[in-house]
Amino acid sequence: MAKLEGMVIDGKQVPASSGKTFEVRNPANWDEVVGEAPQGGREDVRRAAESAHRALEVTWWGRLHESRRRGRVLQKYVELVEAQKADLGRLLTREQGKIYAESVGELDSLINTFEYYAGYGGKIAGEVKYVRDGDSVIKVETRKQPIGICGAILPFNFPVSLYAWKIAPALMAGNAVIIKPAGSTPLIDIRLTALLQEAGVPAGIASVVTGPASQVGEEMIAHPLIRKIAFTGSTEVGKLVYAGATQRLKHVTLELGGSDPTVVCDDANLELAAETIVRSGRFRNCGQSCTSVKRLYVFGNVYDRFMDLLINQTRRLNVGNGLDPATDMGPLHTAKGREDVERFVEDARKAGATVAAGGRRPTGQAYERGFFYEPTVLTDVPEEAAIWHEECFGPVLPVKKVSNLEEAVAEANKTPFGLGACLWTESEERIESFVAGIESGMVWVNYKPLSVPETPFGGVKDSGIGRELGAEGLAEFLETKSIRTYVGKA
Ligand code: NAD
Repeated sequence: MAKLEGMVIDGKQVPASSGKTFEVRNPANWDEVVGEAPQGGREDVRRAAESAHRALEVTWWGRLHESRRRGRVLQKYVELVEAQKADLGRLLTREQGKIYAESVGELDSLINTFEYYAGYGGKIAGEVKYVRDGDSVIKVETRKQPIGICGAILPFNFPVSLYAWKIAPALMAGNAVIIKPAGSTPLIDIRLTALLQEAGVPAGIASVVTGPASQVGEEMIAHPLIRKIAFTGSTEVGKLVYAGATQRLKHVTLELGGSDPTVVCDDANLELAAETIVRSGRFRNCGQSCTSVKRLYVFGNVYDRFMDLLINQTRRLNVGNGLDPATDMGPLHTAKGREDVERFVEDARKAGATVAAGGRRPTGQAYERGFFYEPTVLTDVPEEAAIWHEECFGPVLPVKKVSNLEEAVAEANKTPFGLGACLWTESEERIESFVAGIESGMVWVNYKPLSVPETPFGGVKDSGIGRELGAEGLAEFLETKSIRTYVGKA
């Protein structure tokens, strides 16, 4: 019997009101039950919202003068997570499928993010000015205060780092949070929320409700006490969330899908570019990252040399169970995720593309019970293939030859998405021209698509609204109140 992890409501780990549970299985071996989670519903969201409302009224948490105290709690949380990192990392790999080194990397991202926002203790401030109104002096003041109860809806691909990107700034700002993990990755988010209670977050301030989107997600959007929805997920669901939240005039941040382009120019360090694109760009998390390199444009005069490097690197990747230290890439997270990837490859192949690496499921006993797929490179992919226009959320990289940067940028801007973009060049002039012309919220130059808490993250066009991380990420969880006070005669 798998261990049941109770969700966290009002500071306690509890079953769902319905008493029902669901199993979580390992994507690398579907026979392995990793654990059991409560099948929460609308009633559980209501319980969490009422407990959060009470907690904001009666505890110290949301008080404007307590931000240093909140910072100490976040810092204590960092220590607790650090102490359990290996155990949490193994759980994340078994629940999500990514390799253990990447699981530890995600936990490091969570630690860095909580540490960064803990540093805002004592520094959340509005401003005071004095102005003249005729012969009167008026003090005008802005006060930065918490929004209230914020809902966080999370995707399956980064259940730890994206948890931190929302929860750390929301809590630092003095809000209460209700977290809805993806249906298939509830266990790690339950653990992370239980640790918040241990760190000293008052009961009711941080809850996690697991269960189906049609119940838990929709109730979070509908519930009048929840004043903000911070959502990360697909563009398709993001549009539904946006429609529901704006109807109720809630604050929203939407971090949505992407189809990030990378451009390799003829003056780039080709060895480094190929290695980075393979090791950290396209195949990390089995291609299931919003900022994965999803389309590659290479200058024609270095194309053959670069493709040799890229294909050699790709073929060297070991596919397998993420707990095996020899594994470079784990399975896809779900059977459906793998079928979607197979459809993209089949569609491109039928249109006339060449499969230069991978393009199939690996064979052998080790792969039979998991959702494995080989890291795949496609060349000569015709314009009409879906992979150029839609988001392919798996380990497949289409490559196109371009003759110059202008053509590359025009190709790169063709999709409705605008999350990130990478450029490989030594030329300052090309960097400037790329940054100016590319339609994206983020740019990386001669580096992997790294995210750090010090700088904002987010996209334009169909990739979303608002920013996470950095000072902007904190501002998204604060309300501004402005006060005008008569002082006297001028
Ligand atoms: P998804 O949109 O299927 O689900 C995301 C979350 O929304 C889940 O918790 C799901 O249960 C919930 N949900 C589904 N329908 C809902 C509804 N009607 N109301 C409320 N909640 C609902 O996304 P996914 O498959 O888990 O994640 C992959 C997607 O997320 C990709 O498109 C990826 O690019 C995107 N993503 C974006 C970023 C970013 O920062 N821009 C980061 C990671 C992932």
